[in-house]
Amino acid sequence: MQAQNQFFQSGITRDLGFRLQQLRKLREVLQEHEQDIYRALHEDLRKPVFEAYAGELGILLEETKHAIKHLKTWARPRRPSLGLVHWPAGAQVTQEPYGVALILSPWNYPIQLLLGPLVGAMAAGNCAVLKPSELAPHSAALIHRMINENFPKEYIDVAEGGVPETQKLLEQPFDYIFFTGSPRVGKIVMEAAAKNLTPLTLELGGKSPCLVDASADLGAAARRIVWGKFFNAGQTCVAPDYLLVPKASAGVLIEKMRAVLRDFFGDDPQKSPDYARIVNAAHFQRLSEYLKQGKVLAGGRTDAQDRYIAPTLLGGVKTDSPVMQEEIFGPILPIVEYQSLDAALDLILKYPKPLAFYLFAEDPKAEAHVLSRVSFGGGCVNDTIAHLGSPELPFGGVGGSGFGTYHGRRGFETFSHPRAVLKRSTKIDIPVRYPPYSAPYKLKVVKKLMG
Ligand code: NAD
Repeated sequence: MQAQNQFFQSGITRDLGFRLQQLRKLREVLQEHEQDIYRALHEDLRKPVFEAYAGELGILLEETKHAIKHLKTWARPRRPSLGLVHWPAGAQVTQEPYGVALILSPWNYPIQLLLGPLVGAMAAGNCAVLKPSELAPHSAALIHRMINENFPKEYIDVAEGGVPETQKLLEQPFDYIFFTGSPRVGKIVMEAAAKNLTPLTLELGGKSPCLVDASADLGAAARRIVWGKFFNAGQTCVAPDYLLVPKASAGVLIEKMRAVLRDFFGDDPQKSPDYARIVNAAHFQRLSEYLKQGKVLAGGRTDAQDRYIAPTLLGGVKTDSPVMQEEIFGPILPIVEYQSLDAALDLILKYPKPLAFYLFAEDPKAEAHVLSRVSFGGGCVNDTIAHLGSPELPFGGVGGSGFGTYHGRRGFETFSHPRAVLKRSTKIDIPVRYPPYSAPYKLKVVKKLMG
């Protein structure tokens, strides 16, 4: 940290040319390590190459390209007009880097969720310490090597470790903390940040609902829900966590989803090269318990040796059972049938505000009604999870799913402080604002100019 503080204070990282050069380098390093990235993600999660690209490397390449293209514009100082009341003065607002940032990430997209925030940190001119998840050790080791071989430690460094190491890191007076992970650990991080008054972003999880309206195109819904839910075997922060379907459409939708599962993964998804595995034995165990909390409508098979849980649809679940109370974070989709749209909305509103929300509807009135009632981080209409893949869209949670956003310009802004400086000419000095205020004209002039 000392070395990074010194490096930051030298001013090198503030230079726009330096920032662009380093972002280009990060992009090159990622491209050069494409095969290593696929290998590490396969070892950690048996992530299919397509998902490793679409959900990790591709997103990072998009983010770096976008930042390199737009950084000059983002970094340009704004010069707002201050109006007559401040005459003769002008002002400038510049996005100032915080200094040394700590970035903590989870295991499910272990490369994208660590290096994605880093793009924003670098674009804004910070130094950074990266703490990958210990539960994706191959990805963590690869990141360590990629970063340390290509960037000086006083600029970007990697600290590997689990809970005790992270707690030690959190005692340090970082200038910014960017945390992605569970709400439980988010609270620990926020408490630690409070001790040093360190500003932070919390990218958390929760139960992201998927609501199918009576007007929905059930064919499209079946394909897109199955895709978004079982991508990375359901271990996605924005995966649809549970599904709400009108009673009258449930039978047809479930039949269509069963057919889609066969189309995507064949009769035995365990043999499909396109289906990931559960990250470790503890999560396998946790998820296996959920299978007992409803009626298996599709899937349900498990293999502990292989950390395999079939893509599963679960019916007849009770809303007070753990599968409907805890974030699932795995390939199990509970399906709840509802009588009326408002009853479905009432159920959604009982949970903390979710990170994502998905609606399938063709009726614009239903769409407007639903979107006006539910608060959520981000989401899609007639699709799932796709909103997180664009640098044009701010990504982040609200309420229980966290606060702060990133991706594209928002990442740059998150890692910088908008510093306002007013500059006044010394050629003229209007005495109205100075005491004594007794001359009645003074207040009159101020009232004319302000308010
Ligand atoms: P986690 O909270 O257990 O771990 C995240 C990080 O915190 C890891 O680096 C870990 O080493 C560290 N950590 C764990 N326990 C700690 C402790 N007691 N003190 C200090 N540090 C600690 O999360 P996870 O299991 O790796 O990931 C799953 C969670 O992350 C889910 O809730 C999911 O929704 C959420 N998530 C959110 C997003 C998002 O973008 N909002 C993305 C992916 C995952």
